[in-house]
Amino acid sequence: MSNDDFKEVDNTTNNIDTTDTTNSSNNSNNSENKQTDYEDICYICRRPESVAGKMIHIQPNLCICNDCMQKTFDSMSNGGFGNFGNLGNIGNMDFSNMPNISMINLSDLPGGIPSSQKIKKKKPKEKKAEPILDIHSIPAPHRIKASLDDYVVGQEQAKKVMSVAVYNHYKRVMADNKNKAEAEKKGSSVFDGVEIEKSNMLMIGPTGSGKTYLVKTLAKLLDVPLAITDATSLTEAGYIGDDIESVVSKLLAAADNDVERAEHGIIFIDEIDKLAKKRNANQRDVSGESVQQGMLKLLEGSEVEVPVGASSKNAMVPMTTVDTRNILFICGGAFPGLEDIIKERLNKEASIGFKADLKDKYDGDENLLLQATVEDIRKFGMIPEFIGRLPIMFSLEALTEDMLVKILKEPKNAIIKQYQKLLEMDEVKLEFDDDALYAIAKKAKEKKVGARALRAIIEEFMLDIMYEIPKDDNIGVVTITKDYIEKKGGPLIQMRGTPELEDSQNL
Ligand code: ADP
Repeated sequence: MSNDDFKEVDNTTNNIDTTDTTNSSNNSNNSENKQTDYEDICYICRRPESVAGKMIHIQPNLCICNDCMQKTFDSMSNGGFGNFGNLGNIGNMDFSNMPNISMINLSDLPGGIPSSQKIKKKKPKEKKAEPILDIHSIPAPHRIKASLDDYVVGQEQAKKVMSVAVYNHYKRVMADNKNKAEAEKKGSSVFDGVEIEKSNMLMIGPTGSGKTYLVKTLAKLLDVPLAITDATSLTEAGYIGDDIESVVSKLLAAADNDVERAEHGIIFIDEIDKLAKKRNANQRDVSGESVQQGMLKLLEGSEVEVPVGASSKNAMVPMTTVDTRNILFICGGAFPGLEDIIKERLNKEASIGFKADLKDKYDGDENLLLQATVEDIRKFGMIPEFIGRLPIMFSLEALTEDMLVKILKEPKNAIIKQYQKLLEMDEVKLEFDDDALYAIAKKAKEKKVGARALRAIIEEFMLDIMYEIPKDDNIGVVTITKDYIEKKGGPLIQMRGTPELEDSQNL
């Protein structure tokens, strides 16, 4: 192989950045990669080009740094391979005397030839002072809430708290960038002004009340990467399960391996209540309290080494460093059993003095969670250090029948609107009686899984409609009635061009 061969191989490289392929024919390996946002990683030592220097391409997606190439040749010549020739000059090494032999059988490499050996470059330090997020473009809290209102029904307090917290968080990120720039200008690494604390959140709410939905909507509105993980799969490092740091690599994946974008993202950890300290546990609690301990540094802000494009660390995966200082962590959970702790506390408080209440006053109160305090959460089994790192705590209301009806018809992508759109394509109008909507909400409420039950119920009876209606081209309007939901009758069908309705029993 001559030097030209190496260049040729590189020209066929299927780069992620398309501009790279157009430039590649004119420039040498090194300079062309510098122009792109992505850089190569050495297959042997895993160091990126910015650290290891010039890379030598062996295959389109396989490259090795100069040092490793040199070491390979050194060990081969020491191992009695003798004098290599005809390899020409590669980089600054002279292989002109080497025989034309195949040194490595590429298909024998463990795991085969990788599909991509590139990682997005971190921008140089001096550019970092330039804000990605501009404080003037972060919407004010009332605007964030107004946008949330378009999608999320009710939960007024939660939406308000979240809007303010998110607004403050990104203001803090801006201030942080500014402080860093100022400190750099002054030549000191420490900024002596006011540092705003991180506003990580703890969200408590019954299942299906919209916790995940709120966070997803928020991330979409702010256009920041979001990673949603489940705390139940996390275990202390070294045990079966996901490492705590895997949450950060998920965020990195959500940000298309762009470290800088990931560092301004949101991580939502669901089912956080499953990390509560186990009572009467004699063994080491590798998936509960230890995970809480392990998460402390992450929540506060630290530099973590994470694998790129994989959830676990191993020798074949390139690593990169992500700073979690500016990542917003939102933890959510249903906290089953927390109501009892709150009830006990409230009863204790109320039973003292003349104003003593009846003991069963709080029984059946669905919104007891709204009265949760830090002390209650600690009693539940979360360690104080952990709660301390989630300074913003709020609860979501249990969904009432009225709210469920609104969820069915009001949000921008309401379930009913989705079905109406589907039938519209068949030129059929779908309508729901108000009574029918309440009947659906009542059924959903009985299932006690919040708004999640709605879709299941609607899917069940819409199946027949979606199956039968396209059979007859004459059907113009279908109205879902309460009777149909309660299985006492059929939907009302109106034929095209006929004003009177006919009650269809055959659906
Ligand atoms: P959880 O609180 O268990 O995380 P989710 O956020 O996953 O619940 O909610 C399930 C689904 O219910 C969501 O995808 C969303 O469509 C719907 N939903 C729940 N609460 C609301 C709400 N307040 N407004 C609109 N839709 C909601």
